[in-house]
Amino acid sequence: MILDLKDVFLQDGSRKNFEYSFSMSDTEIGGVYPFVSPVMVKGEATNKAGLVDITFDVSFNYRRPCDRCTEEVERSLNYQLVHRLAVSLQGDENDDYIEVPDYTLDIDELIATDIILDLPVKFLCSEECKGICSTCGKSLNGGDCGCSKVEVDPRLEELKKLLN
Ligand SMILES: [Zn+2]
Ligand SMILES: [Zn+2]
Repeated sequence: MILDLKDVFLQDGSRKNFEYSFSMSDTEIGGVYPFVSPVMVKGEATNKAGLVDITFDVSFNYRRPCDRCTEEVERSLNYQLVHRLAVSLQGDENDDYIEVPDYTLDIDELIATDIILDLPVKFLCSEECKGICSTCGKSLNGGDCGCSKVEVDPRLEELKKLLN
């Protein structure tokens, strides 16, 4: 959505609330399309002495395989995002502000970028996830798979043969 903030910029102390949703269903991360619901956005833009602070409260359902056991997990995630906007940065290199010379801002792209940066680096079904058995590939969360837990060290096997 293109947000028109001219009214907010032109009047000190004014604010604007908005609510909308957009889709990230075609965003691929690590081979899956994890954004299984629309991204719901509640936003507020506030003029503070000529600069505009904008906050977004975003929530969406996120589904992808657990990084340890590969079980699919769906979780609702919620983030608070904050940005400061200025009509002109007067040539200042300032990463804290977004320049909006025509008072408009494409917020879908801004929010999508923020969300991707905020996503959990490790996505687990649970902190206690036991992962999968390295021998048979079965998830160990449902109980022991029955494989021998003794790791066979091929060097020791060779040594045993020599000693016999
Ligand atoms: Zn897991
Ligand atoms: Zn096993």
